[in-house]
This record gives sequence, C-alpha cells and structure tokens, in this order.
Amino acid sequence: MISRRSFCKTSLASSAGLLINACKPINIITRSSPHVVIIGGGFGGATAAKYLRKLDANIKITLIEPSKHYLSCPGSNWVFAGIQTIEALTIAYATLSKKYEITFVNDSVSAIDPVKHSVLLSDGHRLQYDRLIVSPGIDFRWETIDGYNKNIANSIPHAWKAGEQTAILNKQLHAMPNGGTVVICAPPNPFRCPPGPYERASMMAYYLKKHKPNSKILILDPKTQFSKQSLFIAGWKKHYGYGTDNSMIDWVSIPDNPVIRLDAKNKMVETDFGDQYKADVLNIIPPQKAGKIAEKSGLSDESGWCPVDHQTCESTLYPDIHVIGDASIQSPLPKSAFAASSEAKVCAFAVVSRLTNQALLEPVWINTCYSLITPEHGISVAMVYKLNKDRVITKVKGAGGITIKSDQRALYLESKYARHWYDSIIKDSFL
Ligand SMILES: Cc1cc2nc3c(=O)[nH]c(=O)nc-3n(C[C@H](O)[C@H](O)[C@H](O)COP(=O)(O)OP(=O)(O)OC[C@H]3O[C@@H](n4cnc5c(N)ncnc54)[C@H](O)[C@@H]3O)c2cc1C
Repeated sequence: MISRRSFCKTSLASSAGLLINACKPINIITRSSPHVVIIGGGFGGATAAKYLRKLDANIKITLIEPSKHYLSCPGSNWVFAGIQTIEALTIAYATLSKKYEITFVNDSVSAIDPVKHSVLLSDGHRLQYDRLIVSPGIDFRWETIDGYNKNIANSIPHAWKAGEQTAILNKQLHAMPNGGTVVICAPPNPFRCPPGPYERASMMAYYLKKHKPNSKILILDPKTQFSKQSLFIAGWKKHYGYGTDNSMIDWVSIPDNPVIRLDAKNKMVETDFGDQYKADVLNIIPPQKAGKIAEKSGLSDESGWCPVDHQTCESTLYPDIHVIGDASIQSPLPKSAFAASSEAKVCAFAVVSRLTNQALLEPVWINTCYSLITPEHGISVAMVYKLNKDRVITKVKGAGGITIKSDQRALYLESKYARHWYDSIIKDSFL
C-alpha cells in the first residue's frame, strides 16, 4: 500500500513538487519537534517554509525576514509599461504565517554560527536550529563600477530589487523629455533573471512609443548573447523598428569593453576603452553575487555564489545548512523565481528526509521564464532538469522549449500565460 508520505515523495520525483499541493501535512516526526530556521522570505525562503509545513505538521518553522512585506521582482518590469503597480507587487506575510503556522521574525540575521547551530539576529537575540535554510537573494558588486554605490543608486537606480528602486526609475522615465535616451547597463553572467534587462527595455519602449516616440533605449551589454534573444529581436523588429534607423531599442554587445566607470553628476558611463555614453535616464544593473549574509558566513566560494549538493541543496562548505534561490549555484537552472521555488521544494523534501532519517528523493526541477514585449505579445522559455549520473543538474532532452515566434496566436496567448504564471507563483509561494 502506498502511504501518504510515499505518495508525496512520488509526486516530487515526478515534478519538483507541482503535485504536492495535494498533500496535507502529516505527523511523521518521532522525536520532539525539530526547529528549521529559514533566512529570507523571498520566493526561495517563503516556498520552503510553506512546503515544509505541507510535508510535516510537527516541525517548528521560523522564517526571518527584515521586511514586513515582500516586493516581487517578477512583474516589476511591467510597471514601466503602465500595466502593473508597485502596490499589486506587494505581498504581506500574514497569510503564510497564519495559514501554515510559521513563526515570522521581522528582523535580519547578522551572523550564522554553523558550529553551535545558531543564528544571531540584528536585535541581539540568538536562535538555535536543527537545520538552517538560507535564501537571501543577491547582493551587488558595487566595486566593479567606479563611482557607483548604494547611495548613488537612489538617483541612478538599478531597480534589480523591486519596490522603491522601481518607482524611482519609473518616475525618471516619465520625467524624461521626448527625444531622450535611456541607457540600460546589463550585468554579466550569472545574474538574477537572465531575460530581465531585455524585458525591461521592451516595457520601457512600449511606454515611450506611446508617449515619447522620438526617444531611444540603448542596452550596453557585457555579453555576446542573451536569454530568448531571437524571440526578443523578432518582437523588437515587429513593434519597435529594431534594425532600422528609427529603432527605438539598440543592443550593443561590448564583451571586451565593459562599463567600468560612472560619472553620476552627468549621467554618463565609461567603458574600459574609454567610450562614453551619456543618458537622460540611466539604469545600471551591476554585476551580482550571493546575498551579504551568505558571503559573511562563509557559505559562498570565490565565485561569489554558494556551492550546494544539488540533491539536497545542502551547502558543500557547512553541514546542516541548505542554500537555495539566487544565492546558490544551481546552474544550468537560471536565477529565477520559478527556479528558486523548485529548489525550495527539493530542499523541503530533503530537510524532512534528513530529519526523519529517510532515503533522499531523486529530484526533478522545472523552470519557465515569461517575458512581455508588449502587453499582448509574450514569449517564454521552459525547461525540465534532473540529476545526471555524475549528480550534476542537466536539462532533460526533449523537454521544454521556446515560443514559436511565427505563431501570432501563440505570442498573444503567451502574454496571458505570463500574467497567470505570476498569479500562480505568488499563490504557490506566499498564500
Ligand atoms: C526585474 C526583474 C524581473 C524578474 N522577473 C522574473 C520572472 O518573470 N520570472 C522569474 O521566475 N523570476 C523573475 N525574476 C527573478 C526573481 O525575482 C528572483 O530569481 C527571485 O526573487 C529569487 O528568490 P530568492 O528567494 O533567492 O531571493 P529574493 O526573492 O530576493 O528573497 C531574498 C529575501 O531574503 C531577505 N534577506 C536578505 N538578507 C537577509 C538576512 N541577512 N536576514 C534575513 N533576511 C534576509 C531579503 O529581504 C529578501 O526578502 C525577476 C527579477 C528581476 C530583478
């Protein structure tokens, strides 16, 4: 007979937790309640908290997050096209906390003691854990662009953490005169949301085409190619004159000549070879690394990201600590909300298995990244992943795919799917 727990396990093995929504929490812990502490209430941390509870009613779960509300980056580019608001991207933690009996601690972690199994909160309190899940997202490598720093980001926004930053950039876009130039400095790999800079350019172009048609968007890119490139280019050709003299969007690939200097006063960036680009609106998305607490605690390596065992998301540097989401190295999975949620489910199963001395599961991950080119022209890339014989994450051959760019109906439907995907992932992670 298949037990409820085995059923849940089977479900995970088939699709990174997509079916485990059906599972109710069950009492399987035989010893006194172990304590799982989670750092960070983003897509990784919130999903891990919720799915731990779905798997086990007895675990004590504490989620530590400095913000009272989560601000979703997915959907934040849509603000520039005027089809999304910051308010709608703001999610309270109250439902997650109440519905799934998760203790929410509104603070940040300032240190992790992997030997004593404790975390230190910034208010000075210490919490003991049996297992720790770390999902702090990203931090910026400010030092790579001379003249750029956290304070200057108040006037020259990155908008790569949604909320106030998104609002600043949007305000500047609205204040820009017709005929102005927006310069977007895209980051090098690996970074949060590979299609994000190009969706941003699309959403800004949609607004400018309507309200300031003589304006231009210049993307300065240290990469030679980018995510869903052929789909973006086809969309830009169709809607924004890409490739013509009147193109609203220009993509300039400068792999050997990256942006290294900012003249904030004149809104001008300079490349390694001394080329200068002046902007009316300047959006610098800096190179990235794992969130500060990961680096400070020694969970990241020389790459700036956290190495993990993929089957369990356990740090390869410290025992009993799992790292998920953007901060962890999970390539070829991208740094996306969907991937973070997939990793969180894999991690939740692994944590419960470890706490109950059960055999580990064979995980499967899913990711789909939608982007909008206009509110009615969407594109996507989807992929399924599994562990290969060397225990490395690999793409499942024949699975996934990208939008068929010649199929006009598909492009329209993808724009609808993008919005439904957003609603579903918010529900799946936070509600
Ligand atoms: C413009 C943009 C658009 C995007 N669009 C999409 C999309 O369409 N689809 C998609 O799948 N992904 C998208 N993404 C990517 C997605 O936002 C990230 O991949 C996702 O948020 C990663 O989740 P995370 O849990 O790792 O990090 P986050 O969601 O950033 O969460 C980290 C949390 O940890 C908290 N934290 C940090 N340090 C501490 C500490 N010391 N103590 C306690 N808490 C701490 C932070 O406050 C934060 O709430 C987009 C990103 C951007 C920037």
